[in-house]
Amino acid sequence: IKYSLEIAKRKKLYNQVLEAKGNIRVFCRCRPLSKEEVGNGCASVVDFDGAKDGDLGILTNGGPAKKTFKFDRVFTPKDDQVDVFADASPLVVSVLDGYNVCIFAYGQTGTGKTFTMEGTERNRGVNYRTLEELFKIANERKETFSYQISVSVLEVYNEQIRDLLATSPSSKKLEIRQAGEGSHHVPGIVEAKVENTKQVWDVLQAGSNARAVGSNNVNEHSSRSHCMLCIMVRARNLMNGECTKSKLWLVDLAGSERLTKTDVQGDRLKEAQNINRSLSALGDVISALAAKSSHIPYRNSKLTHLLQDSLGGESKTLMFVQISPSGHDLGETMSSLNFATRVRGVEFGPAKKQI
Ligand code: ADP
Repeated sequence: IKYSLEIAKRKKLYNQVLEAKGNIRVFCRCRPLSKEEVGNGCASVVDFDGAKDGDLGILTNGGPAKKTFKFDRVFTPKDDQVDVFADASPLVVSVLDGYNVCIFAYGQTGTGKTFTMEGTERNRGVNYRTLEELFKIANERKETFSYQISVSVLEVYNEQIRDLLATSPSSKKLEIRQAGEGSHHVPGIVEAKVENTKQVWDVLQAGSNARAVGSNNVNEHSSRSHCMLCIMVRARNLMNGECTKSKLWLVDLAGSERLTKTDVQGDRLKEAQNINRSLSALGDVISALAAKSSHIPYRNSKLTHLLQDSLGGESKTLMFVQISPSGHDLGETMSSLNFATRVRGVEFGPAKKQI
C-alpha cells in the first residue's frame, strides 16, 4: 500500500508537469574544452549565465552578438554524471510504472554523446545508472510488484540492424515486426535477463565489445552508427494482478555533422547519406507529431521504426542535445541547437500506460 501511494503521488506530480510542459523534454549538455583546444588558444563561445533557468547563450561571430536558446535543462561543463542523471531519473523510473520511454543523445561527433549515455568505468553514464536505479526501486517495491527486466543491445549501421549480444553472427537479416497493436520487436534478437547491476555491467560491456568487432577504427565506426539499448520491463502488481509491459530505449545516435568535401565518395558517402536520412527521419517524425499529423512517417528509417512504440503520443521522450564549446564548431553547434529547438516545440498528448 505504501508504494501504491508513493506511485500515485509521483504520477500526480508527473501529470502536473506534463500538463504544464507536454511530453517531451530537451536537455542541453556542453562538454568542457579539451586540453588540445585550450592549448590552441581556443575560447568558449557558450554563455551559461542563464543556465539555471534553462537559457543558453551562443556568442556568434566571436563578438558580443548573442543568440539565446531555451531548454528544459542546461548542463554546463562543470555538471557531472550524477547531476545529469538526477534530472533524467524520474523519467527513467516511470518505465516501472508502465510507460514507454525514449532517451536519446544527439549531436556532432566528439561532443559527449557516448560520455553521457555510456560513460566510462569510473564515470558511468545514463545507461548503467538507469538500470541501477530500476533495480533499486524494484527492490523497494518488491512486496507490491514483481518485475522482470531484460536488455537487448543493437546497432543500426547503414540501415542494417546488428544484434550486439548475439554470440555468433547471424546470416539472417534482422527485421522489425509488429507484434500486436502498437508493439514492435525484432524476432530473433537476444533479450538478456538481468537481475543485478553486475550482470548489467557484463551485458553492457559485451555490447560495447561487439561493436568493435569487424571495424578498423572503433571510434569512427561508432560515430557513424546508432547504438541502441532496449530495456524491457514486465511488471505484475501482486495486489490486484494487473500486468504491464513497457520499454525504455536509450540511444547514442550517430554524429549529426554534415558531409565535408573530402567525404563525398565511396563507402563514407553511403554511410553519411544513411546517417542523414535516419536523423532527418527522426526530425520528420517529431515534426509530424507536433503537427498532430494523421500519418507519422516512422517507417522511413530503421531508427524511427525501432523507436515507434516509444516515440509519440503515449510515451515520454528525453533528448540530450550535446554541444562543443569551441568556436571552431560553431556551425555544427548552431545546427544541433536549432534541431533541438524544433524538437522542444513538440507537445505530445498525455502519456498512457502500456498494458
Ligand atoms: P561523441 O560520442 O559525441 O562522439 P564522446 O562521448 O566520445 O563524444 O566525447 C568526446 C571526448 O570528450 C571524450 O574523450 C570524452 O571523455 C570527453 N567528454 C565529453 N563530454 C565530457 C564531459 N561532460 N566531461 C568530461 N569529458 C567529456
